[in-house]
Amino acid sequence: MTDLDDHQLAAEIAQSTGQKLVDLLHNTPSHQRGWGGLEYEGDAMAHHHIVDCLRAARPDDAVLSEEGRDDRSRVNESRVWIVDPLDGSSDFGYSPHWAVHIALVVDGVPTAGAVAVPGWETTWATEPKPTPIMSSIGSRPRIVVSRSRSHYDGRLLQQALNAEVMAVGSAGVKAMAVVRGDVDAYVHGGGLYEWDSCAPVAVARAAGLVCCRTDGADLEFNKSDPWSPGLVIARPELVDDIVNVMS
Ligand SMILES: [Mg+2]
Repeated sequence: MTDLDDHQLAAEIAQSTGQKLVDLLHNTPSHQRGWGGLEYEGDAMAHHHIVDCLRAARPDDAVLSEEGRDDRSRVNESRVWIVDPLDGSSDFGYSPHWAVHIALVVDGVPTAGAVAVPGWETTWATEPKPTPIMSSIGSRPRIVVSRSRSHYDGRLLQQALNAEVMAVGSAGVKAMAVVRGDVDAYVHGGGLYEWDSCAPVAVARAAGLVCCRTDGADLEFNKSDPWSPGLVIARPELVDDIVNVMS
């Protein structure tokens, strides 16, 4: 994999990790798919596969993984891979709404990335760029929010923007729903971690979407504390309206 560029490498790792997770599901009888077992096995297996691939292909780069130990030495590194081996793990085995996130941050800016959604049989990457959405936004903007925040974010957006609101799990799935034009924006009013947002942001920006905090500020990555206050991924014409409601 050393001959791949960063975009290709992100896509290759996201895709192969997604396939390994699908294989794990297929090889686990449904009666063994209880809570608290399979998603942890998936988290660990996916994490080790990603770290092994990155160590082999980019031995000098740092890695921040949801499932890894973070000693914060990455903060002083220029090139850092920020990964979520299994995003939306509570849906793993129950719905198609889980994803694999692989992103490369260079000096705090996402420069390459991929999001695999095996349940939709697709991996999106920063190269080749996703096809931009050409259709216009309907009379009611369609906005996807997090299940855990639907009572607050969802209600707010419904009332202020007359939005049609839906809620699903997995930040990657919600972001890719915007990328493929199912919805016009993804809004998350609470905090989330950099591994939740980094690869989705890299891919969404490559698709021509705008990504920022809910207060309109720039997103920062590879911070010492990887917690981030809120996320908007939206079609450009909707961003100001959403920020006005959410900030
Ligand atoms: Mg995860």
